[in-house]
Amino acid sequence: MISAPIQIASYLLASILFILSLGGLSSQESAKRGVLYGMIGMAIAILSTVLGESIEGHAYILIAIAIASVIGIFVARKVEMTSMPQLVAILHSFVGLAAVLVGYGSYIDPATAEIQGAEHTIHLVEVFIGVFIGAITFTGSIIAWGKLEGKIRSKPLIYPGRHIVNIVLVIISIFLCVLFCQAPGTDGLIYLIIMTAISSFIGIMLVMAIGGADMPVVVSMLNSYSGWAAAAAGFMLGNDLLIITGALVGSSGAILSIIMCEAMNRSFWSVIFGGFGNAPSGTAKAIEGEVTDVDHGHVADLLDAAKKVIIVPGYGMAVAKAQFPIREMVEYLRKEGKEVEFGIHPVAGRLPGHMNVLLAEANVPYDIVQEMDEINGDFDSTDIVLVIGANDIVNPGAEDDPASPIYGMPVLKVWNAKDVIVMKRSMATGYAGVQNPLFFNENTNMLYGDAKDSVTKIQQALVIS
Ligand code: NDP
Repeated sequence: MISAPIQIASYLLASILFILSLGGLSSQESAKRGVLYGMIGMAIAILSTVLGESIEGHAYILIAIAIASVIGIFVARKVEMTSMPQLVAILHSFVGLAAVLVGYGSYIDPATAEIQGAEHTIHLVEVFIGVFIGAITFTGSIIAWGKLEGKIRSKPLIYPGRHIVNIVLVIISIFLCVLFCQAPGTDGLIYLIIMTAISSFIGIMLVMAIGGADMPVVVSMLNSYSGWAAAAAGFMLGNDLLIITGALVGSSGAILSIIMCEAMNRSFWSVIFGGFGNAPSGTAKAIEGEVTDVDHGHVADLLDAAKKVIIVPGYGMAVAKAQFPIREMVEYLRKEGKEVEFGIHPVAGRLPGHMNVLLAEANVPYDIVQEMDEINGDFDSTDIVLVIGANDIVNPGAEDDPASPIYGMPVLKVWNAKDVIVMKRSMATGYAGVQNPLFFNENTNMLYGDAKDSVTKIQQALVIS
């Protein structure tokens, strides 16, 4: 068992490492270092918490850690990169559930009865708020998991007056909190249970109201909620490290949500309250033009003749694991003296930074990977754009079709390039479920097939030619 001052010092060290970790994650070059800081910080946090407990406590915690580690290692090894968002959503739900359980445990703990006066009331309010945020995070994250996994329809479930219903439910919860704080002993349990049911319902409805292309913001918002749930658990347990860590996750998740809202041209407040205002009305613009498809040899010829090439990867690149042959092709084209860059949309794939992680995994040089704002002006001077497994993020309807569900979302203006090649398996829609007029443009050609297979065949044709 370690003494209290050593535990406090370890907590401080862990907190500093978590802050350094977040700092490291802000750029691709330092991201690995950031993750390492986070791992060391977490190891210190767990060790100092376990060693700060009594001897019988050790055994329970060690058994729990052993079981959880086995499950964690198994799941992390098994999960596909494309299922990462679902895993993140489920992990958020665990944080929410933990906050709920800590709240209930803390309320019925006989030691709570020894706290008196204002301190007791403050503790009860902490329990109530912790359970409230925890239950919203728990059910909201499960719905997000269902939507990302395709088990729940991605269309928003919006009913008239939902904001009023939500506000009334919050007011009822505040009233229940007053009754809960006034109840003697553990008599307030019934109010806690009713509030848990209400907040669970709010969590479900908040995420059900969000549809299609707007899910990225929900994922980062739930990340933020899980942080606040952890901070609330920290207050209930009187654990400073949990409060600091929760606040770091909560605020960084909120900042990420704001950045993503800006990137998608959505209002931050309407995300917090669920749903993004009115669903688009009117009929979608009729799509004109014909779809033409080409073969690998034709794409290789276009690449051969091109001076400037931009690659726009999307979710399909992750599904196909095409990043490795893409890196080989890019190396080849650059050796041939061509200017090659990547254009990354902030919500490409199914997770913030999804494409950056995959390209880094394949050792694509960071300096040719550009963000949407950096590259959007360059398409006019580009000979050929390869859209690899992307759809919604290159949909011109987001700019000129007010009836489109993704109207208003900034997109990569690939259609300004001389030639556009779209590599996907069929004419199927993307995550938002809308058809893409880009495919019907005169300067767009489709190259059907699995992205990895297509890129490998283009590369073979390039080498032969
Ligand atoms: P999309 O989901 O719009 O499109 C991906 C396309 O990839 C599909 O149309 C599919 O067409 C194609 N595809 C799938 N598998 C393969 C394969 N093996 N080979 C080739 N193509 C394949 O992806 P985008 O990246 O363009 O857009 C991301 C979407 O996901 C946005 O709507 C975004 O809002 C949403 N989202 C993003 C999150 C984030 O944080 N980044 C989180 C949650 C949602 P086909 O079946 O014909 O091959």
